[in-house]
Amino acid sequence: MTRRIYDFRCPGGHVVEKFIDDSVTQVDCEICQQSSTRLVSFAGPVLDVISGHFPSATMRWAKDRQEKIKAERRATELHGPAEI
Ligand SMILES: [Zn+2]
Repeated sequence: MTRRIYDFRCPGGHVVEKFIDDSVTQVDCEICQQSSTRLVSFAGPVLDVISGHFPSATMRWAKDRQEKIKAERRATELHGPAEI
């Protein structure tokens, strides 16, 4: 069972990003509840298809996200909440 990030698009044009099992090709749109189909244009490296485990793109995404949160938290500590 491999989970990775996929984009799903519904007939209404809403695109949602989900970290989901790669056997799942349809989900309900969170906005309009129509069935959304998985977009095949995942921009991950082709090599990940071979390894199948912990795609580096997914790991990188998670790491980037963590770094970003950390950086934002640090900025808040240094400068305090934005003041008007
Ligand atoms: Zn929708």
